[in-house]
Amino acid sequence: MSSINSLPSLKQEYLSCSKCPNLCKSRTQVVFGVGNEHADVLLIGEAPGKSEDERGVPFCGMSGKVLDELLASINLSREDIFITNTILCRPEDNRNPEKEEVENCRERLDQLIAIMQPKVIVTIGNFATERIINKTGIKSIHGKVFTTIINTHEIKVVPVVHPASYLYSGRNPEMLKEMKQDFAKIAEVIVMKKMEGNKRQRSLGEF
Ligand code: URA
Repeated sequence: MSSINSLPSLKQEYLSCSKCPNLCKSRTQVVFGVGNEHADVLLIGEAPGKSEDERGVPFCGMSGKVLDELLASINLSREDIFITNTILCRPEDNRNPEKEEVENCRERLDQLIAIMQPKVIVTIGNFATERIINKTGIKSIHGKVFTTIINTHEIKVVPVVHPASYLYSGRNPEMLKEMKQDFAKIAEVIVMKKMEGNKRQRSLGEF
């Protein structure tokens, strides 16, 4: 069992990670993640892109602007969530992460989830969704709610379409509307998990 029990110490551990030789060459820096480490909601993207690699912050480029708009549509800001990626380093020319790279970053993401104990995980795109709930086909499963158990904790998982797909679509307004509906579902799940937590606290208070 790891002795690391906070996100700053986990970050420290991975800042000089050398598990993936190709990513060590293509990255400027490791993009660990940002936000509120005590948040109930964890967002997981795919991998840092060019802007993220330069600035060390996930989703700080064009996709990030779309993501911020989606978060704002349910009254959430970056301070209300924590955000990281399936892999921490930018692949050259923004290629897809290799299976081995996702595996090399598995322990880090498991540790992050164990420390944070989020109530809700939002997986952004196919890579994060496959990594967390072992399911593919984001086009058919986005906006659905899955339940997974991680370290004996029940976590709700909501896969969403990657904002980059919306950008590739030429900002199709229908697509944005559907993405906002998926975020409305996320808001519902957050409220439901909060109510469950309150109920559990009340019934503990009865003893
Ligand atoms: N796309 C991602 O999946 N992650 C980022 O951090 C930026 C773009």
